[in-house]
Amino acid sequence: MNTCKNCATELKGRVDKKFCNSYCKSAYHYEANKNKKDSLFLDIDKQLKTNRRLLKSYNKSGYASINVDTLNAEGFNPNYFTHYWKNSKGDVYLFCYEYGFLKREINQKKKYILIIWQTHMEKKK
Ligand SMILES: [Zn+2]
Repeated sequence: MNTCKNCATELKGRVDKKFCNSYCKSAYHYEANKNKKDSLFLDIDKQLKTNRRLLKSYNKSGYASINVDTLNAEGFNPNYFTHYWKNSKGDVYLFCYEYGFLKREINQKKKYILIIWQTHMEKKK
């Protein structure tokens, strides 16, 4: 026996029926869509926190560099960041909360330069 996907009432009639009425149908789709949005938020939130944790663990002194591959292999994803800061040379550091990173090639090796957010950065726009 088929049951309604929204309220689990047994369905009579057509075998391909999924809902008992249009109310159940729209309620179900509303809920499914809401959950999808929630899960996107949770995924982004999780990735940002992973990024922050990794940047923090490799940047204990406030300034450091790390191989791009090493950090990425641990789950770092540079596409997720909270804001950015441009220094006077025009380098754009991306930040995950208070931890920043800049991709650079040093001696033919791809590196992230790691910095920590400073209050003076606030003023530059
Ligand atoms: Zn129903």
